[in-house]
Amino acid sequence: EETEPVEEVRPQSPVKPMTATEVKVNVSIPEAAERAAATGADGVGLLRTEHMILSLNQTPAKYIEENGEDAYITELVEGIRGVADEFYPRPVRVRTLDAPTDEFRQLEGGENEPKEHNPMLGYRGIRRSLDRPEVFAHELEAFRRLYEMGYDNVEIMFPLVNDAEDIYQAKRQMEKAGIDHTKRKWGAMIETPASALSIEGMAEAGIDFASFGTNDLTQYTLAVDRNNEHVADRFDELHPAILRLIGNVIETCREHDVETSICGQAGSKPEMVQFLVDEGVSSISANIDAVRDVQHEVKRTEQKLLLDSVR
Ligand code: PEP
Ligand code: MG
Repeated sequence: EETEPVEEVRPQSPVKPMTATEVKVNVSIPEAAERAAATGADGVGLLRTEHMILSLNQTPAKYIEENGEDAYITELVEGIRGVADEFYPRPVRVRTLDAPTDEFRQLEGGENEPKEHNPMLGYRGIRRSLDRPEVFAHELEAFRRLYEMGYDNVEIMFPLVNDAEDIYQAKRQMEKAGIDHTKRKWGAMIETPASALSIEGMAEAGIDFASFGTNDLTQYTLAVDRNNEHVADRFDELHPAILRLIGNVIETCREHDVETSICGQAGSKPEMVQFLVDEGVSSISANIDAVRDVQHEVKRTEQKLLLDSVR
């Protein structure tokens, strides 16, 4: 007698589990947006804008000189819009430009970039943006246009901030660009020890979220160059010092009603996921290929916490 074939037991449920902790996805190139959205992630936890700019093969200054500022703004608008469309209404956290000078130096016009002994400790992220407000204004204008077009799922994230003063200055630049930061969701990356230790002031300055950039937070806290193979075995995102910084930030943020998230590579690691869910992080952003595993790890950890709490 014939029996129905038993469906093969899958090692992992194809169904997205419901979790209290949101699981988002990191997107580095706009072309990956469709694949990223198909993961069922709750949004984009980090959309890097570097590729949109570096792929122009000219420094922003050179590109603007040759094509005009409107063309530059349009490149950004279109790059971000492709991802915001794919995910709408799920939120997309867009990071302002964070390329180090050694990457800019490889582009046409790069000879005008500062020559730095240590670009990772140098002129990048929010430092560069605040030092060149006229270029930063074009980036912010791209956000303003996106909001005007109705992309209310776009959020702004500032990289490499150190303290509340960086936040106040970024806020001032948003105001100048005509962005109502009281209506929009915006925040900062926590990727220097200084920023982790300054979280209270940053929360008071008005950020809506703090997102752990563990690639840099590990590099700067442990003084281990993330690109140096000789010390690669010391690059430990789960080092107790890192976890202590992260835990403290989550606690302070909870007191101030500020969301917390992770967008560094460590967000794709089960041990980090367990730690963060335990600490009460609001969301975790993982690599495209890790989203499903992270969703299940979050679910398992939440269930375990629940069981422990009723025991
Ligand atoms: C980080 O530092 O963890 C991060 C997400 O930013 P990037 O890797 O682009 O420096
Ligand atoms: Mg970083």
